[in-house]
Amino acid sequence: MRTKLIAANWKMYKTPEEGRSFMEAFLPLVAGHTRDEIVVCPPFVDLPAVVEAARGSRVAVGAQNMSWEREGAYTGEVSPAMLLAVGCTHVILGHSERRQYFGESDDVVNRKTEVALESGLIPIMCVGEVIEEREAGLTEEVLRRQVTRGLRGISGRKAGNKLVIAYEPVWAIGTGRTATPQLAAEAHELIRAEVGKTLGESVAQNLRILYGGSVKPENASALMVEAEIDGALVGGASLKPDSFASIVKY
Ligand code: PEP
Repeated sequence: MRTKLIAANWKMYKTPEEGRSFMEAFLPLVAGHTRDEIVVCPPFVDLPAVVEAARGSRVAVGAQNMSWEREGAYTGEVSPAMLLAVGCTHVILGHSERRQYFGESDDVVNRKTEVALESGLIPIMCVGEVIEEREAGLTEEVLRRQVTRGLRGISGRKAGNKLVIAYEPVWAIGTGRTATPQLAAEAHELIRAEVGKTLGESVAQNLRILYGGSVKPENASALMVEAEIDGALVGGASLKPDSFASIVKY
């Protein structure tokens, strides 16, 4: 049995003070909840405040992006070592908003995923098709490409049981349209099979594949009971403590 991972992606919302207030309200709601792993991913500048607030709890903190470079003249970038130094354990990579608005290619996602694994951060590598691709019957091809290119050159040993993949159909992100549990499970099966070919069967069997795309308290349990769905990446509904807590406790 794979332990499910429920991750909050706050995107570009909340100041450090707002992040701290969220944690003050959220932590008592999930105190004693040991069934699932919980990760909160705030904007970079909130990380120290949220890590501090999470201290002593079971809630881990992750970033939403990272440079593939270790240090250097890269204005505006944040390195893996900087994330580790402030207490991050996870990092979301290749989110569709980064692919769509900031030009991140599969190759960029690949470099970042490899560096995250080498640095000791747990990468949550996002994949997912846009609506035009789904309607053109290209979903399988797109997912296969994103997985194989995203993992190119990474060994099964390096990925170990660290790598996490999030399947986020882009048409379901922030739209209120959720993939049906069956549709998500089918995509997860395909991703797991592809990972099996690339990284080996034992990595694939231990791999957590999260579903993301308009997960809400009302639909979380129908998605989470699917054996193929190993957790959720939650955007909008993770911004309020009670809403995120009810998703965690689905
Ligand atoms: C996301 O940002 O990863 C996401 C899934 O957003 P939402 O839950 O708002 O669709």
